[in-house]
Amino acid sequence: MGADGANSIVRRTFYPQKKIRNYLSIQQWFPETHPTPFYSCIFDPETTDCCSWSISKDHQFIFGGAFPLDNARARFEKQKQKLEQIGFRFGEPLKTEACLVLRPSSFGDFCKGEKGIFFIGEAAGFISPSSLEGISSAIYSARDLSRVLNHPKGDLNQRYWKKTFHIRFKLFLKVLKCPFMYHSFLRKLVMKSGIRSIQINEATQKDTTPHFAKKISPQRRAQP
Ligand SMILES: Cc1cc2nc3c(=O)[nH]c(=O)nc-3n(C[C@H](O)[C@H](O)[C@H](O)COP(=O)(O)OP(=O)(O)OC[C@H]3O[C@@H](n4cnc5c(N)ncnc54)[C@H](O)[C@@H]3O)c2cc1C
Repeated sequence: MGADGANSIVRRTFYPQKKIRNYLSIQQWFPETHPTPFYSCIFDPETTDCCSWSISKDHQFIFGGAFPLDNARARFEKQKQKLEQIGFRFGEPLKTEACLVLRPSSFGDFCKGEKGIFFIGEAAGFISPSSLEGISSAIYSARDLSRVLNHPKGDLNQRYWKKTFHIRFKLFLKVLKCPFMYHSFLRKLVMKSGIRSIQINEATQKDTTPHFAKKISPQRRAQP
């Protein structure tokens, strides 16, 4: 059973021909120096066709992104330089982390084991190509496989693959979602439409109660 993540040695051993699109994820931690904590998702097609993110957490500022393998570190540093010009503050990193991350691009990308070889989680390619989230798919696929193995009858591989259809289908929908996230024109349309935007409840100083919830116009809603 391959439960060994993006760079699965089990997958590479038994299915060396199986190539799932992959990126190098690089992340650095800095002392937080921004006046207010903030969170961001960055799309910069000049340095990567995937995305980057920043998180303020426990007085630390985390910045990371997923980059094509060729010159990944140089792309990361270039993106940092560009972001500094628009107000991001980095400084000396406290730590730097890097690992491979998969990004399936078609329904056939998932790795179907056979003859008693099984894959769960990212080893199977179960990770969202739009957000790079894979924890829930790892947990669900582990659960599905345990249910199959605990009731051994028929073709176990077939049963497992059938049981995980819901994961593959959900991830395939994310493949279809990608252009709307990663193509700037389509992304702007989505942002403008306000689809799935979050309504912000603002507390203002003028308010008599501390948690006064104010309705705001669709234009001022936080976007997905
Ligand atoms: C920077 C970053 C941020 C992420 N953030 C999120 C997030 O916010 N939410 C989310 O849902 N997902 C996120 N993901 C994706 C998520 O982490 C993975 O999809 C998920 O952890 C996959 O789980 P897994 O159990 O399949 O593999 P992993 O969590 O990668 O676990 C595989 C395990 O196998 C071990 N292993 C590997 N090879 C061997 C070997 N040869 N022998 C023994 N052990 C081995 C590894 O050490 C590891 O412990 C993120 C990924 C990255 C890179």
